[in-house]
Amino acid sequence: MKISTVKAKSILVKSNLPASDYVANPYAGCVHNCRYCYASFMKRFTGHGEDWGTFLDVKDYDSDNIPRLLKGKTVLLSSVTDPYNPYEMKYRKSREVLERLSDTEAHVEILSKSDLMVKDIDLLKRIPDLSVGISLNTLDDDFRRDMEPGAPSVQRRLKALEALHAEGITTYLFISPIFPYITDIRAIMEAANDSVDKICFENLNLRGSAKGEIIGYIAEKYPQYLDGYKLIYNKGDLFYWEQIKADVEAMSEQYSIPLVNYFYHAKIKKGGKKND
Ligand code: SF4
Repeated sequence: MKISTVKAKSILVKSNLPASDYVANPYAGCVHNCRYCYASFMKRFTGHGEDWGTFLDVKDYDSDNIPRLLKGKTVLLSSVTDPYNPYEMKYRKSREVLERLSDTEAHVEILSKSDLMVKDIDLLKRIPDLSVGISLNTLDDDFRRDMEPGAPSVQRRLKALEALHAEGITTYLFISPIFPYITDIRAIMEAANDSVDKICFENLNLRGSAKGEIIGYIAEKYPQYLDGYKLIYNKGDLFYWEQIKADVEAMSEQYSIPLVNYFYHAKIKKGGKKND
C-alpha cells in the first residue's frame, strides 16, 4: 500500500448528492478495494499510476477552513473514500473533521464499511445531530471477500451497528449495492433490524470497467445468474428492480422500519421514498 500525505485546500466540499449539502473526504483512494467501486474514477484526479485500492493519500488541511455556520446543512463523511479505513487509526483525519463538526449545528452523516468507528463512540456521542450508517450487501463472507477484499467482515459490521445503537447513536443499515439474485435483502434486514433506526437500499449500478469486471465474475462464480445480469445490465431491463422495490416496501410494513430507496433509475425510484 502506497501512503502519501497531500495538501488539500479545503476538506469540506459542496455536494450535488441528493441527501447531502457537503461532503468530507479526509483521504483520497480507498484500501477496501471493492471490485465494483463507484469512486475509482477519482484516480485520475490523484496523479497516481497505481491501481485503485493500492494507494491512499492522507489529506492535510487547515481545519479552520471548516465553516461553523452549517445549521440545516447535511455533511457526509464520505462520498469517494471510506472514512474509517484501517489507516484512520494511525492518521485520525476523519476524527479531526468530526471533532470540528461537533461544534457546529450540521447534520452529520457517516457512511462506512468498517467497524472502526466504534473506537470513536466518545466523540460520536458529542455530535448533536448525527447518524451513522454501515454498508452491507451480503451475510456470506466468501462473497464479501470476493467483492470487498479490504473491508471488515460481515460479523464485525453487524456488531458495530449493535454497539453504536446500544450507545444511543442513530444508526442505519445501507444495503448496498444490491447484487441481483445474490443479495438476500430479507436476511440482512433480519440480522440488523434491531440495531438500526432506518434501512436504506441501493441497487448495483455498473459503469465503466466495473461492468466487465462484475459480469466476468458472475460468469465464473454464478453462471446460473448470467442471463439475468445480461438482461439487466446489457439490455436495461427493469423487471428485477421493480420486483425488489415492491418486496422492500412490503418488508418495510412488516418490520415497521423506515426505508429510504436510493435506486438510481428514475423509473424505479419514483414513489419509492418512504418515511425518511
Ligand atoms: S469502500 Fe467505497 S470507496 Fe472504498 S473501495 Fe469500497 S466502494 Fe470504493
